[in-house]
Amino acid sequence: MPELPEVEALAGYLRQRAVGRRVDRLEIAAISALKTYEPAPTAVAGRAVVDASRHGKFLDVLFEGDLHLVVHLARAGWLHYREAFPATTPLRPGKGPIAVRVRLDDGSGFDLTEAGTQKKLAAYLVTDLAAVPGVAKLGPDALAADLPTFAERLRSRRGQVKGVLTDQAVLSGVGNAYSDEILHSAKLSPFAITDRLTDAQMATLHAATRQVLGDAVERSLGQRAAELKGEKRSGLKVHARTGLPCPVCGDTVREVSFADSSLQYCPTCQTGGKPLADRRLSRLVR
Ligand SMILES: [Zn+2]
Repeated sequence: MPELPEVEALAGYLRQRAVGRRVDRLEIAAISALKTYEPAPTAVAGRAVVDASRHGKFLDVLFEGDLHLVVHLARAGWLHYREAFPATTPLRPGKGPIAVRVRLDDGSGFDLTEAGTQKKLAAYLVTDLAAVPGVAKLGPDALAADLPTFAERLRSRRGQVKGVLTDQAVLSGVGNAYSDEILHSAKLSPFAITDRLTDAQMATLHAATRQVLGDAVERSLGQRAAELKGEKRSGLKVHARTGLPCPVCGDTVREVSFADSSLQYCPTCQTGGKPLADRRLSRLVR
């Protein structure tokens, strides 16, 4: 699932490549992906791309006349920039992984795609960002928040730090993968309770958040958008590395269920060497 670093890199690529170009046509291939009715997709034709930016994990492509195409890529969505399209014929709705296609006046453009059968990618055409429900509820950006803001936000929601850190209304941009990395870097248990964190632990967590996200943005920006793949992240130490050695201490990375997914962590680095109880498993055993 694309998180803050990947979306930041996609926005950066669009700023370089698409800003200044005029839209020939915006095509919707997956009708269910477009969550707004007004303005219609035809309203984008003829407008220049003036900016591309990020709000949490949302990508925002701004066209002249204050028209935004806001996209949440969900779990399996991605943006593919095309130097050219194979054909000029419009996409046939309901066929293949392409949800939205934007054709630009130099023959290039981009596709918003979604792999798999679960279609959760959401696109919004709006003149007011507050009209996008997910954007209106976003907390401060996880990469931009200073320590007092970060601490205040995290302590405002009592709960396991893994869940609170990924709650987009608390802080925006961090999801399942980077929260595992941040907690590993901060040497904190994912099940630590937010309002019991000491000031020192909070400062370490804040520094780890900036470091992990900042490094990931750097790595993502270093890749060409065509090679940028959400599922092929490099430099991860614990996330999606169950059973492999922790690069910091050599202990085996473990996994427990969390919410509707799972999390990975290193017992030596994060939980005093004790494996966390897998609640799903113990419930089954009982
Ligand atoms: Zn370790």
